[in-house]
Amino acid sequence: MNDQHDNKTVDWLEQPRPKYIQTDLGKEKLCIECGEYWPLDHEFWFTYSGKLKKDGTKSTCYEAACKSCYYIRYKPQRLQRPKNSIRSYHEKGCAP
Ligand SMILES: [Zn+2]
Repeated sequence: MNDQHDNKTVDWLEQPRPKYIQTDLGKEKLCIECGEYWPLDHEFWFTYSGKLKKDGTKSTCYEAACKSCYYIRYKPQRLQRPKNSIRSYHEKGCAP
């Protein structure tokens, strides 16, 4: 047995990698959370409107973390959902 998996996780953090790469399938973007490249597409990334360009259209910006990592990175509280605290909050609300 070896620890290949662990080494891989550390590697991508230490080596500077380009934010975008060009592949045969098109442009891909690096996710800052999982370190994988994903196609620059609404399917893989959450987007938001960027600056207004000179021609009047807004540029589309992609979040730095891919969709599957987005909530892990930016909204960790959404993933936790502690059952006890929800229940006690509810009970507080119902108490006279
Ligand atoms: Zn990711």
